[in-house]
Amino acid sequence: MIWYALAAAILFAAWWWNSRREKAHRRRRLLETPLPENVQETLCRTVPVYARLSPGLRRRVDGKFNVFLAEKSFVGCKDVVVLDTLKWTIAGHACLLLAGRSDDWVYDDLSEVLVHPLTWRREDSVSLGDGLEIREPWAAFDGESWTRGPVILSRGAIRRSLRELDGYNVVFHEFAHQIDAENGAMEGCPVLPAAMKERWARTMGSEYDRLVKDDERGIETFLDPYGAEHPSEFYAVAVESFLEIPDKFRQEHPELYRVLAESFGFDPATGSPVV
Ligand SMILES: [Zn+2]
Repeated sequence: MIWYALAAAILFAAWWWNSRREKAHRRRRLLETPLPENVQETLCRTVPVYARLSPGLRRRVDGKFNVFLAEKSFVGCKDVVVLDTLKWTIAGHACLLLAGRSDDWVYDDLSEVLVHPLTWRREDSVSLGDGLEIREPWAAFDGESWTRGPVILSRGAIRRSLRELDGYNVVFHEFAHQIDAENGAMEGCPVLPAAMKERWARTMGSEYDRLVKDDERGIETFLDPYGAEHPSEFYAVAVESFLEIPDKFRQEHPELYRVLAESFGFDPATGSPVV
């Protein structure tokens, strides 16, 4: 009996190793495959920073875009049919966030993107700290992002995001949460080089406190005051504005801009790499 169990374990290990090797081969091919012209044109139209990326960064986004489309499922909820242009728009935004990364990571814990027709409502709770929370029976959502789970987006909110460059972009927001959660915790801090951690904590901490105070005093802020809810939301709204309106962001929050550009490995205002 023990020999059967051992043989089964060996066969399983061989199958597992082979499928990993095949997946790695397939990924390598996809990472090196250029995008067709019509896809590039769609990305230039819907993801303006993509249009000004340096050729090296653009090739990297293109490769990761291929992997994203090949490995993630797009699921339409209710009556939504997820057309190619919508898939390209979502994958293009998601992969722009990876333009500065030289590794092969393409949201490896994510397998599904769900698309709702419009904003949806469900029960939610908001933490007040010290274990206190408020229940919201009808909280409204344009998007959701789960640690090691799906990203959920409203098609209506995606269309609103594309209408103008104003710092609101639900796709950047939800995929910023995915990057934040890469280390297993969504707390406003992505995976960083050790040398950056102290500066990151100092800058993000003081900018978050400033947004919370300005919001409490009713002062109009450049960053979406929704970011005052939690450091993870602060990171997500900062990433939205960083990628949508980089020139204004750099004027309003120069140090925060520098820290974000270093963490992403590229400067969205110029489209060039940041080493
Ligand atoms: Zn959020």
